[in-house]
Amino acid sequence: MTAPEPNAVTAPPVREPVARHLCTDCGVSRMEDPKACGRACQFIKPDYGRLEAKVHGRIRDPERPDELHFGPFRRMVRASLKAPRPGAQWTGITTRLAERLLERDAVDVVLTMAPDPEDRWKPVPVLVTKAEGMAQVRGMRMGYAPLLALLEPVRERGYKRVAVIGIPCQVYALRALEEELGLEKLYVIGTPCSDNTTTERFHDFLALLSDEPDTITYLEFRADYQVELRFENGQVKTIPFLKLPISKLPPDFFPLTCRTCVDYTNVLADITVGYMGGQGEQWLLVRNETGEELISLIEGEVALAEPGSAGKRQSAVTGFIANTERAAGGLPLRGMPDWVRPLVAWLMPRIGPRGLEFARARVEMKASETVLHLRRQEPRRMKSMIPDHVWKLVAPYGLAPLEGERTEGEDADAEPALQDDPPGPI
Ligand SMILES: Cc1cc2nc3c(=O)[nH]c(=O)nc-3n(C[C@H](O)[C@H](O)[C@H](O)COP(=O)(O)OP(=O)(O)OC[C@H]3O[C@@H](n4cnc5c(N)ncnc54)[C@H](O)[C@@H]3O)c2cc1C
Ligand code: SF4
Ligand code: SF4
Repeated sequence: MTAPEPNAVTAPPVREPVARHLCTDCGVSRMEDPKACGRACQFIKPDYGRLEAKVHGRIRDPERPDELHFGPFRRMVRASLKAPRPGAQWTGITTRLAERLLERDAVDVVLTMAPDPEDRWKPVPVLVTKAEGMAQVRGMRMGYAPLLALLEPVRERGYKRVAVIGIPCQVYALRALEEELGLEKLYVIGTPCSDNTTTERFHDFLALLSDEPDTITYLEFRADYQVELRFENGQVKTIPFLKLPISKLPPDFFPLTCRTCVDYTNVLADITVGYMGGQGEQWLLVRNETGEELISLIEGEVALAEPGSAGKRQSAVTGFIANTERAAGGLPLRGMPDWVRPLVAWLMPRIGPRGLEFARARVEMKASETVLHLRRQEPRRMKSMIPDHVWKLVAPYGLAPLEGERTEGEDADAEPALQDDPPGPI
């Protein structure tokens, strides 16, 4: 029997992290045995094949449509809650799924992120034990927070049926350690993730977008090539991607972890809830039997449709790679003349890749970033950090492994190296 929690949402204290090179502070280094990072970390020697087979019963199959890009899935749908939830990032499918698990007493606890009471953009890992608590965690925060450190209070409190809402680097580590946790049931609701940075740096970005950055309550990079901002006074502003002040950001604005992360779509979740392939709605990837169980919990509440796809991604990805090569080499991004920008900004949502083609383009862009940034900054890590599917994604763009960049033969089983690092920014 577990003791009842007095509050629906609690933020138990966690240990200080052990500083590590290439780390998003997923929480494992704050656990009793910080060396567990060596078995768990996405940034050391990820083994997606082994974990995909364990979690989904099979590895991604490049012969099945879109699995090379999005990982193993049973079905893919466009979706939105018929009654969107206030405060949600999109319509709130992610938090509603977890809320349903708590309502039906299918889990004892949900691990996720609440906003810091002092800073709405800062994520704070929390345990949610009552359905009504899920309303407090809706929406997106920018930054890293040690979600998995909460697995220890979960064990201490005797919770055995657990749901975790996580981004891909958290979910990789969770799956790698799953067998050691002694849980009766684990539900993993994943969101895609890209271009995360520290909350402090994100505030610098907000300051470039508005004279009153502290009043911004919502930000999203939409699939129609616009950034949407919402303000405390109810005002909504959209900025085309092309007009964003990206050139004013320092080159290391996005940490190397997020520039070289190999899992955009959260392939080890039971269900991935994103928006990239949704053309203005949400986009769900149901990956296994548990994912089917999760989506059945909101049957009747959610409008579902086939995902669409339009446009061609090749030239957008090729242009992105050319700019990334310049940026990785320390050169300024090659911009288009100012007078062309409004025209292209108008054209992109109309003729650029849309729906699934947009999602494929983003996955290929991220894969090429991984190769180019690691080649520039951490070439010795390429062999262990880059899974084979990443090389397949970038091959059509002429990016191929140079000597020593890809694991082959007996090297494939070499022991991963756990590198400690002096304390410093992630
Ligand atoms: C940094 C970041 C980048 C993202 N990039 C993309 C992208 O490129 N493409 C895409 O399709 N989707 C992306 N997402 C996911 C997307 O923003 C939505 O969260 C998702 O579509 C679910 O919407 P929803 O309305 O169902 O979420 P909600 O019901 O509002 O629930 C959101 C959930 O996310 C959790 N959460 C919020 N911030 C964080 C954080 N920093 N770390 C961990 N968990 C958090 C919340 O606690 C909550 O449980 C990103 C998310 C994050 C955190
Ligand atoms: S991101 Fe990697 S190194 Fe950092 S705490 Fe998690 S497992 Fe450890
Ligand atoms: S981009 Fe990748 S490494 Fe960075 S926070 Fe998101 S999942 Fe983690």
